[in-house]
Amino acid sequence: MKNAKIYFSVLEEALSVLTASFSYLPGYTGSVSVESIRSVLLQAGEKMGDNYPYFHPLYAGQMLKPPHPVAQLAYMLSMYINPNNHALDGGKASSAMEKEAVAEIAGMFGWAEFLGHLTGGGTMANLEALWISGKERPGKCIAVSAMAHYTHERISEVLGLECCKVKATEKGQMDIPELEALLKKGNVGTVVVTMGTTGMGAVDPLAEIIALKKKYGFRIHCDAAYGGYFSLAETLHPETKRHFDCMSEADSIVIDPHKHGLQPYGCGCILFKNPDTGKWYKHDSPYTYFSSQELHLGEISLECSRPGASAVALWATQQVLPLIKGGEFARNLEKSLTAARELKSLLLESGRILFVAEPELDILVFAPKAAGTEEISRISRDIFHQTEKNHLYLALYNYPVEKLPAHWDGVEKNSKQVTCIRTCLMKPEHLEWVPEIGKRILGVNF
Ligand SMILES: *Cc1c(COP(=O)(O)O)cnc(C)c1O
Repeated sequence: MKNAKIYFSVLEEALSVLTASFSYLPGYTGSVSVESIRSVLLQAGEKMGDNYPYFHPLYAGQMLKPPHPVAQLAYMLSMYINPNNHALDGGKASSAMEKEAVAEIAGMFGWAEFLGHLTGGGTMANLEALWISGKERPGKCIAVSAMAHYTHERISEVLGLECCKVKATEKGQMDIPELEALLKKGNVGTVVVTMGTTGMGAVDPLAEIIALKKKYGFRIHCDAAYGGYFSLAETLHPETKRHFDCMSEADSIVIDPHKHGLQPYGCGCILFKNPDTGKWYKHDSPYTYFSSQELHLGEISLECSRPGASAVALWATQQVLPLIKGGEFARNLEKSLTAARELKSLLLESGRILFVAEPELDILVFAPKAAGTEEISRISRDIFHQTEKNHLYLALYNYPVEKLPAHWDGVEKNSKQVTCIRTCLMKPEHLEWVPEIGKRILGVNF
């Protein structure tokens, strides 16, 4: 954390406020001595140095972004209580904060009434969405794009639901004529619409899928684990924006605060448009729901114990950075969009780089020019290793050769897949660092 010492003095103040609330209790002495933990903590500090520098703008590889300082501090502060948001018995204050924070996320999609809660991450949140899909449309299949996250196929398997793959276009989006051909067969219960694929940030054509829903009557689940927050961005390509603008018409939405929402890991979110969805979660607990007649979040969640600290961190972050268009949080996401576009033009100018698609969000996929796809893959891996030596951290992405766009026509297709370079420019600081990132990529001899 930048300026950790300044931040820790605020944490100390906040801890005094918190502990003062319990001053009515008789004092007691704890059993852990500082000496016994000090040397181990120093060792842990040393061990954790064996990592890529995820917090730094020169880390531009996988989807990793440091939590906001207020999220880190609020999480640490909550550790004094270690609340459990399963039931109000275990997490009274933090459950209230969760309800407030989740309502703000739902508000971002225009939902005032909804059912929703935080989860351990996008996987758990998607599991709940598809579990409900199976209940609402028993015996029907889950349709996903070939470019969707692999989690949907696995979750369908766990739930005993059939998963139907729909081909993707060369832009990485679900192919609408292919989807309609599948819908005509009549067995689709739910269509999973990815709002920003994990590979290249492609956005499925939600507006067209909504039009098909009117004709064929399936459920729409938006997997916006990565891209959801971009619904606040005003500088999206108009075509992309058109799809984000109709997310309120989905039946369920997944968004990951631990991806673009500045949260520590362990924070996903599932939202259902219809509050009645709660009926599918109904269960009795002989152990937990005693302290209040109000809603215990465990009554509407598949997971039992859940970290209240995640809710406190999210609540605090949204106080500092409200989820509004034109606000600082939205502006920072727009900086990421600009960074991807600027890096693309910088690399394009060099005449040495090929692109897989226009970046719709902040993920750019590109490859070095060479005679054939096999050679391109080898050079991509070389760039990945050479830039790492020069402390620029990128990622790789295997792309199906049959999906390559027309401007790759001169390249010999001598492999099934081509390894490209993938970079996620998720931090607002990335924008300022585009020239340096470009310099370090083009500085490699290829
Ligand atoms: C990251 C991601 C997931 C999986 O979420 P986790 O938080 O990693 O469990 C699912 N779908 C999409 C589109 C994602 O980007």
